Amino acid sequence: MKNVSIGPSGFGRAVDAEEIFERFSKKGFGNCEIDFTYKVYLNEKQAEEIKKLAKKYGIKLSIHASYFINLNSEEKPKIHASMQRILKCCEIGDALGAKSIVFHSGFYGKSKDKEETYQNIKKRIIEMMEIIKEKKWDIKLCPETMGKINVFGSVEEISRLVKETGCSFCIDFAHVLAREKKVDYEKIKKLFPQKEWHCHFSGIEYGEKGEKNHINLKPKDWKELFENLPKDKEITIVCESPSRIEDCAEGLEILDSK
Ligand SMILES: [Zn+2]
Repeated sequence: MKNVSIGPSGFGRAVDAEEIFERFSKKGFGNCEIDFTYKVYLNEKQAEEIKKLAKKYGIKLSIHASYFINLNSEEKPKIHASMQRILKCCEIGDALGAKSIVFHSGFYGKSKDKEETYQNIKKRIIEMMEIIKEKKWDIKLCPETMGKINVFGSVEEISRLVKETGCSFCIDFAHVLAREKKVDYEKIKKLFPQKEWHCHFSGIEYGEKGEKNHINLKPKDWKELFENLPKDKEITIVCESPSRIEDCAEGLEILDSK
């Protein structure tokens, strides 16, 4: 399956960039998601250096934005801070040559009104997209499908955001499994007809309310995924399991045998 690229989430220190990319490319990884989940730890100069190295080693970069985001907060300053955190990722992401900024959109809020939550998040995404356009950052916002039932981000909600705002998306298959107790690939293909898919993958423990923990992948998890992924799309898979490097290597082995 030549239409699928696999790589880990998490990067490391800027000073180790060349060594990291060299190791990744030797293993056959095609992508890497830099984690700005706790902070944007690279400056513009470092980002530009890393961009060159990523190109040299053929590694496509994406970014996972801060965990501290709620575009549906009751408090205006919190919404503003959330947007600033995402936009900071866009700025450095543009310098990195990363194309996708993945983020968790927010919570349903006190009212638990899903339509109201949807409209609030949609409005914020449109505002951020306007700023991205103004700044001429070559980057796409990718709200992620979420694994807990009380968190905004069902496949239907994310697909609707894409349709109504023109933003991009991240399909986290482990989250879909935890939220829906199964992965309905046919439904996902219908909801996301786009040519390019940015995806997350890992094993997952879940209960009634959805996601509990990310766990390591088993060969059968990869096999099931590859059997069901569409063949006519460019698919980037970011592996988020605890042993992500080993799991990526195993995934690639299984992919190559397809
Ligand atoms: Zn995520």
